[in-house]
Amino acid sequence: MNRVALAPCGDYAPENVVAAVREVLAPLGGIEAFVWPGAQVLLKPNLLAGKASDKAVTTHPELLRAVIKAVRQAGGIPTVGDSPGIGTLRQVAKGCGVLAVLEEEKVELAPFTSPIEVAVDHGPFRRLELAADLFEADCIINLPKLKTHQMMGMTCGVKNLFGGVVGKRKIALHLQAGDDKTLFARLLLEIAERIAPCLTLVDAVTAMEGEGPGSGNPVAIGALLASRSPLAVDAAAIRLLGLPLSEVWTQQVALEDRRQEADPNRLEIVGHSPETFRPDRFEPARSTEIHFGLPRFLRRHLKRWVTARPEVDLPRCVACGLCVEHCPPQAMTLVHGRLHIHDAQCIRCFCCQELCPHNALKTTQGMLLKILSRSEPK
Ligand code: SF4
Ligand code: SF4
Repeated sequence: MNRVALAPCGDYAPENVVAAVREVLAPLGGIEAFVWPGAQVLLKPNLLAGKASDKAVTTHPELLRAVIKAVRQAGGIPTVGDSPGIGTLRQVAKGCGVLAVLEEEKVELAPFTSPIEVAVDHGPFRRLELAADLFEADCIINLPKLKTHQMMGMTCGVKNLFGGVVGKRKIALHLQAGDDKTLFARLLLEIAERIAPCLTLVDAVTAMEGEGPGSGNPVAIGALLASRSPLAVDAAAIRLLGLPLSEVWTQQVALEDRRQEADPNRLEIVGHSPETFRPDRFEPARSTEIHFGLPRFLRRHLKRWVTARPEVDLPRCVACGLCVEHCPPQAMTLVHGRLHIHDAQCIRCFCCQELCPHNALKTTQGMLLKILSRSEPK
């Protein structure tokens, strides 16, 4: 489970992506190791929002096309499914260019609409409601985009599977976890374990840095990563980007739980090493928190100083109300066309920033965080 393959892919020219998919899967046994004739294969890309594919918000349509072709060559029957944060799946797929590819390739788009209850034997969440489509498929291929994530540090193999939670049930889960990132990381790990994709193949041709997953900047990486394990692929991505482990919450929690495949130093790397793809400069998420081992009640008291928070960029805000509608603890209000964020209620989930179609929410670091990040060696 800790084997991760990496292959170069310099751009999204269709023939280059097809060749890179073949190259990255070869050391894992090729696509035939995952797909058999007649298998119903559900492809789960990152379809967060209907932004143009060059913004690096979503899995690139050409990667999806290359995987569709590979699945068909192995005799499988592909469909594509997800549950975006806002808008319908069709609207999002259209906006990011995926719908055009699916129409050309004659592949069905399957919005996750019907949930089924999945029992969880351990961990803080007793049962989860996940999309039924995930359990009807013979195998799932997880196709994340490599991006920073303001709440969790990074989104890649594990976090992409949160899209398996149907629609607004995601809001309820955010609310249940509150501002406890460890708890939310445990939830994400539970979801990834229940969905259990047979293969995770990461789009890191262009990744996202800074204010990800919705408002950061594209950064050229030029790589595909693949593994049977979403945690192992995330560990390789952490090495590739040179991120401190302490800033990626799912990985930290998985290591606390002694999951070996989460350890970047215990991977079996095949093909190119992750470090060969590291960009000269990569801006991590800005929402790192300071704990200092403070008790929870004190951290809550000092929240404004030791955490990052969302702030409205008023000239950009068109007062559409989408963020207000999706804010889990209802910490946002629109008063006479002006957006207000009520800091005491805000759980720092950054869903608002993720979903705002106008990039009108930025991240402001608490004063202590600012001072410490200035004093960090560059
Ligand atoms: S911040 Fe964005 S989503 Fe929220 S009201 Fe303004 S434009 Fe709409
Ligand atoms: S204001 Fe934004 S970051 Fe705060 S709780 Fe609401 S959605 Fe989450």
